[in-house]
Amino acid sequence: MEATVIRTSGDHVHVRTEEGMILPATLRGKFRLTVHDLTTPVGVGDRVRVRTEEGIAVIEEIFPRRNWLIRVDPNHYHRRQILACNIDQALLLVTVEAPFTPLRYVDGFLVLCEAFDVPAGLAFTKADLPLKPSSEEKRRNLIRLYQQIGYPTFLVSSQTGEGIESLRVYLRNKRTFITGLSGVGKSSLINRLIPFLHLPTQPLVRLTQRGRHTTTYSALYELPEGGEVIDSPGFGEFRIGDVQPSELSHYFPEMRAYLRQCQFNNCLHIDEPGCAVLPAVERGEIPSSRYHTYLALLKELKATPT
Ligand code: GDP
Ligand code: ZN
Repeated sequence: MEATVIRTSGDHVHVRTEEGMILPATLRGKFRLTVHDLTTPVGVGDRVRVRTEEGIAVIEEIFPRRNWLIRVDPNHYHRRQILACNIDQALLLVTVEAPFTPLRYVDGFLVLCEAFDVPAGLAFTKADLPLKPSSEEKRRNLIRLYQQIGYPTFLVSSQTGEGIESLRVYLRNKRTFITGLSGVGKSSLINRLIPFLHLPTQPLVRLTQRGRHTTTYSALYELPEGGEVIDSPGFGEFRIGDVQPSELSHYFPEMRAYLRQCQFNNCLHIDEPGCAVLPAVERGEIPSSRYHTYLALLKELKATPT
């Protein structure tokens, strides 16, 4: 029988069978041995073949994936952790205050999506909350910046419903991986999109305490108007593995046009003679914030043992 992995929490996996039955699932040893470098051998969205045994789905086969998002397992740099499988797009939720989302985090997510060829979008949440004027301006500029690069960018409020309709259009009939820092309003947004789901949300007082997550699992939910969202834990980073330093700039869409004009084809765009990227940054054609995160990610990439 075929099934879809709809929930993972560490080694605990649930599947939904073709008939719509939700069952706990187990993986028998062989996957662990063959796919040795993954934290968990299946991810939410995986298609699997199962046999049921006393109410438990035994996963016998994992079907080839259309695509996936994986990151470096922060606890074991040689391992990869599956974020989601077989997805149409990925949406990062962003707040400029409470919690503060670093641009490194946003750009790290976008680079990961580019590297795995997954269309990415951004949604700035909590539009109803008043911001300091400087933060408000920052948010406006960021929305413009990412839209200009070509990423669909939304401004939404789960409280008032502002922006929710255009987000629904973006999500309709697609399978979307949704993530963001803990406290960004992910559960609130998914509750708004799917009435009656009632995911627990965190009290605001907790938001100042780092490392608290309401979500410690990944789970797939169906949208009432068609499509699915994959809810995920508030990942702290999206460290990308298996990328050569000279590849990194290809994952910055606004840099791509300049890359072939660099004198050296392995140019890292740091201070090389004949680099076409550096003057474009100076002319403001490549946003300097993006160039700075490029340099930070490059450094991180070089420091990640593989
Ligand atoms: P998660 O950790 O990303 O799932 O975030 P939650 O959904 O638990 O939200 C964290 C806090 O932000 C909660 O106290 C929510 O009530 C609050 N929050 C979330 N979305 C909004 C919003 O659109 N407007 C306002 N004012 N508060 C929000
Ligand atoms: Zn260059």
